[in-house]
Amino acid sequence: MQNTNPHAVLLASPGMGHFIPVVELGKRLATHHGFDVTIFVVVADASITESPLFKPPRTPNPLNLVLLPPVDISALVDSTSSVASQLVIMMREALPSLRADISAMKYHPTALIVDLFGTEALAIAEEFDMLKYVFITSTAWFLAVTVHFPYIDEEAEHNHRVMKRPLDIPGCRSIRFEDTLDLFLDQTGDRNLFSGFTRVGMEISNADGILVNTWQDLEPLTLRALENEKFLGRVVKASVYPVGPLVRPTRQSSKSEVMDWLDMQPMESVIYVSFGSGGTLSAKQTSELAWGLELSQHRFIWVVRPPVDGDASANFFNVTNSHDGTPSFLPDGFFTRIRNRGMVVPMWAPQTEILAHKSIGGFFSHCGWNSTLESMVNGVPMVAWPLYAEQQMNAAMLTEELEVAVQPKIRPNAGVIEREEIAEMVRRVMELKGNEMRDKVKELQRSANHVLMQGGSSYNSLSRVSKECELKLHRLSAMALGA
Ligand code: UDP
Repeated sequence: MQNTNPHAVLLASPGMGHFIPVVELGKRLATHHGFDVTIFVVVADASITESPLFKPPRTPNPLNLVLLPPVDISALVDSTSSVASQLVIMMREALPSLRADISAMKYHPTALIVDLFGTEALAIAEEFDMLKYVFITSTAWFLAVTVHFPYIDEEAEHNHRVMKRPLDIPGCRSIRFEDTLDLFLDQTGDRNLFSGFTRVGMEISNADGILVNTWQDLEPLTLRALENEKFLGRVVKASVYPVGPLVRPTRQSSKSEVMDWLDMQPMESVIYVSFGSGGTLSAKQTSELAWGLELSQHRFIWVVRPPVDGDASANFFNVTNSHDGTPSFLPDGFFTRIRNRGMVVPMWAPQTEILAHKSIGGFFSHCGWNSTLESMVNGVPMVAWPLYAEQQMNAAMLTEELEVAVQPKIRPNAGVIEREEIAEMVRRVMELKGNEMRDKVKELQRSANHVLMQGGSSYNSLSRVSKECELKLHRLSAMALGA
């Protein structure tokens, strides 16, 4: 049976960094392009749904948000399995539930949209005669390396991984070894990861369309290369649709201690420090960061997590060793010295609201792509502190190409970055006079706001997707009538 509106089924893999942009895409399809939307969410652990991290969004148009039953992958992975491998296995194990739910739908869905880790589900779309889309919740540059990956031969791999030479991507900026993806950092080359990424690259290229959370003017060169037959257009069969920046909107009346504190600070005087939903630092690095923020003399809000190599039983607010409540993994007396100038938030902060606040003047970030977009749409320059996945590529793009960020001399997880360098980076971002980074990011902010308005390039990209889905819907309806 057919509905009158195209029906998009979206599939989000575990992790807030995937869930948030998939939900934003769903909202956009429903509110601006007349779709019915169902979002299936794979969660790593059912208990996350009770945590404040997992709040299904309230939207004017109702989205049908469905949690797939949690999958147990303990027998399929071991302690050496990378996060990426675990995500792929989780998504694979969730396929039977997804298939059963799609097959039970009253109205035949028109399209399946999956993220990077959900590409195996595209086979289900074929089974049910749906259009197949992939939503890349990262840059077009990351998409470029992913679709090029299956064509990297042994010699090119050796030159990059072992000889540490740049990795060429047809028609795009090469990736320097220092900026490369995690999977090239493993000197032995994890063949499972390599073959998994090869498969994903092929599956993406053969989809009906690829949606990317970027926009035309942000990455014009790479987007051209993805379409151009002389470059990546040769291997990418799918059309590429830059549809971003899709970021969580700020909530209107967001009252909290941190927002009250921000209200009292001067314009653009505070740097916000956060490493995303999962980023943690070593004990030594956490301490150096604390000293660096203090030395910088600038105001800050820091979302702090206990260090990974610290005492496993250390709990941020319960275990303290200092008279002023400073936890044991921060320098003694830190809370007293930073009083009035700094604010420490344990574990999680209302990031989109913070970045949109007029008192924020900088973002010290791990460069996850959602955080990066949130910084750009608010016109906030960054200290780029990449930790894993494709974050180093994002940092390179921000510092060298877009020139809206500074980054340390060495990759943060390659060694400890000292307090003086941290303080210096904070000062460079926060000084207000003659700050070209700030001017450039404000320019990006204007461009980001424009592309999502009716007639803007990202709006038009989603309109094209919507047209394809309407055509598909009509074809399916005609077939159903003919049957
Ligand atoms: N986030 C937040 N509060 C926090 C940390 C993260 O709201 O304290 C949100 C942030 O706004 C972003 C997402 O979580 O939307 C993190 O996604 P990102 O791609 O930046 O990084 P990841 O967590 O995937 O590494």
